[in-house]
Amino acid sequence: MAVLDHISSQEAMALENKYGAQNYHPLPVVLSKGEGVFVWDVEGKKYYDFLSAYSSLNQGHCHPKIVNAMTEQAQRLTLTSRAFYNDMLGRYEKYATEYFNFDKMLPMNSGAEAVETALKLCRKWAYEVKGIDLNKAEIVVCKNNFHGRTTTIISFSNDPVARKNFGPYTDGFIKIEYDNLKELEYVLSSNPNVAGFLVEPIQGEAGVYVPSDNYLKEAKALCEKYNVLFIADEVQTGIARTGRLLATCGNCSCEKKDCSGTPDVKPDILVLGKALSGGLYPVSAVMASNDIMNVIQPGNHGSTFGGNPIAAAVAIAALEVVKEENLAENADYLGKIFRAEMNKYIKDSTIVSSVRGKGLLNAIVINDDEDSDTAWNICLKLRDNGLLAKPTHGNIIRFAPPLVMTEDQLLDCVSIITSTLKEFEV
Ligand SMILES: *Cc1c(COP(=O)(O)O)cnc(C)c1O
Repeated sequence: MAVLDHISSQEAMALENKYGAQNYHPLPVVLSKGEGVFVWDVEGKKYYDFLSAYSSLNQGHCHPKIVNAMTEQAQRLTLTSRAFYNDMLGRYEKYATEYFNFDKMLPMNSGAEAVETALKLCRKWAYEVKGIDLNKAEIVVCKNNFHGRTTTIISFSNDPVARKNFGPYTDGFIKIEYDNLKELEYVLSSNPNVAGFLVEPIQGEAGVYVPSDNYLKEAKALCEKYNVLFIADEVQTGIARTGRLLATCGNCSCEKKDCSGTPDVKPDILVLGKALSGGLYPVSAVMASNDIMNVIQPGNHGSTFGGNPIAAAVAIAALEVVKEENLAENADYLGKIFRAEMNKYIKDSTIVSSVRGKGLLNAIVINDDEDSDTAWNICLKLRDNGLLAKPTHGNIIRFAPPLVMTEDQLLDCVSIITSTLKEFEV
């Protein structure tokens, strides 16, 4: 088959540019193989993956256990649609709800679909359980949020590039400042039509903004006080990325390796995606208690591929790997080393002003304008030096390697990053 013949980087990029919609601006590197924390380009050059497909590859590239689960399932049964039962979905639902300590889940494919599901679920709950007047429900969201790219989700984004010329927008959202409890309390106390509060435990896409220590816990308490659903979008922060199974438990002082049981902050609705499949397959999910999830009845919502047998087999294996390989603990441990090493560098640096993050979701802030191309140029140099990362803004670079990294590999990466940054010091 012609597409499997050898292709150069230049040829591959030319094909994408000619035949593909230009909805992305990729770093110029063409990958053809991945294993663990490494990827290789078509010319055979090896790189550390320091993005992990935006935290989808927490378990590392092509994890053998997950690949095995996928190929075995693919040879047996791939898709039934939900017109019929299949012998994998129920097992997956039991495993995943017990794993995260929720009553029920609703399986979808992409993160944006799962966020849409959570919004629909919240609205229906508002009318049928909370008793808000029809079509009056409002959902509170945060400025600089990132929840995906569908029409409703971009309706409450404030990224002009994501919104411009895609109107008319969906109503029913109130935007407040992130990490601002006063504003949250004001909007909850003054508006009886608020049904939910949708929040990222760390704003990843915005540039890895970590809120104050008590923010999530107190936001959840406010939601309880005003009978408003606390909806945590953990598509990027979840599944061990921030050093805990879920980042909503990130303020927890307990010593547990995972948060099944009594987490510090338990969302009313939990949204997961990305690493739920270990990066093999689009798998997302919404979890909630019975009293919330039971408002959904046949015909209210669905997806042809949502909950398919391959997704179920892949997700079970991907979640097992997280526990078997202690990925949350490893992310916590390596994250502390990473920030400490970066802070040592930053002390005498003029080009980097700070590092922030939790676990292995981190970012460095470059000492330049938001619309400069310094971060992009640094990422090009990092690529040349064997490490792949991507700016989130002109002056912020996100660092999110697979969580299967070893300490030696991390220190090797730190030395690649710091020696690259040195080339940009003035
Ligand atoms: C990536 C992401 C999404 C969207 O997921 P897709 O699979 O790209 O649709 C939603 N929320 C957060 C926080 C994300 O990081």
